[in-house]
Amino acid sequence: MVPFLDLSAGYQELKTELDAAYRRVMDSSWFILGREVEAFEKEFARFCGVEHCIGVGNGLDALSLIVRALDIGPGDEVIVPSNTFIATWLAVTHAGATPVPVEPDPSTHNIDPARIAEAITPRTKAIMPVHLYGQSADMEPILALARERGLKVIEDAAQAQGARYHGRLAGSLGCAAAFSFYPGKNLGAFGDAGCVVTNDGALAKRVRELSNYGSSQKYHHDALGFNTRLDELQAAFLRVKLERCDEWNERRRAIAAHYMTRLKGADLILPNVLDGAVPVWHLFVVRVQQRELVAKFLAERGIATQIHYPIPPSRSGAYASMDFSAGSMPIAEALSREVLSLPMGPHMTIKAVDEVCDALLAALEGHG
Ligand SMILES: *Cc1c(COP(=O)(O)O)cnc(C)c1O
Repeated sequence: MVPFLDLSAGYQELKTELDAAYRRVMDSSWFILGREVEAFEKEFARFCGVEHCIGVGNGLDALSLIVRALDIGPGDEVIVPSNTFIATWLAVTHAGATPVPVEPDPSTHNIDPARIAEAITPRTKAIMPVHLYGQSADMEPILALARERGLKVIEDAAQAQGARYHGRLAGSLGCAAAFSFYPGKNLGAFGDAGCVVTNDGALAKRVRELSNYGSSQKYHHDALGFNTRLDELQAAFLRVKLERCDEWNERRRAIAAHYMTRLKGADLILPNVLDGAVPVWHLFVVRVQQRELVAKFLAERGIATQIHYPIPPSRSGAYASMDFSAGSMPIAEALSREVLSLPMGPHMTIKAVDEVCDALLAALEGHG
């Protein structure tokens, strides 16, 4: 049996330290905005090479708070990828602004910089690239265009803790970035968690205020804030896991490299790594014809796969009122029919990778 991602192996490897972190917080009886959150924020900011980190409740809130802190709202537009998890779009919609989708480069699945200019209108305030599957979007042309047109760049780095782009870390490239620490992410908590990182001190202050009831001083409320904070237990767990994040990403790279070697020349499309990008392989996504048959063939052999994502946001019920017809985002829609995420994680063995490859190659020959 090959699981898609073995979270329990992650706990077992770090059990002593995680259990000690748990006891430390329980013994302190301080659960909200204490020393663990403060320490994690410093450590994660250093990890990303930025000045400020603000812990929040989850990745969606991290994105939404950035949008709100930038005063983007009703009447404004934000450019988002057509091919992403729906949270990217929701963060814009929940702030009252309009997500304007731009199609991906089919070779990386990330937003295609060459298509962004034509989507800019006088209402556009920001571009929100996603570093999908742990590979940085092609940020240089995006940042250049944003500079030229006076737009903010907000990174959705939920899948990209530790990823690099021309030597710089994901999260340090735009005016602010959102991270998710959902358990399955490369740096995962044991529950929901997220953060915002930025080099902009005023923006950091605004986000922190909004995350904590619009207050920077207890019971003084200067903005219509929210309650979305990183809690002490999750921060304590994340501190333990942050120390291993680079090493665990390295293991993912070895797995990805083995997949690449074994699957080269097969009847599928392998991931393409952009020049200058060093991905962290949150997911290993291939494109196959007759995906459902292939996935079924693998499942019958005990190999778990997933689909990221089967329905683009433009075709989701949530966005029915925006009237994107079938075929309006043809690249995202084509990808959604062919993508297949293979098992990937820091505790996967090379033997398991071989099992997946053997079965997948057999499936492709059988169904080719
Ligand atoms: C996971 C994810 C989010 C949202 O994070 P949550 O912590 O689940 O709210 C946003 N964007 C992308 C690309 C994600 O993968």
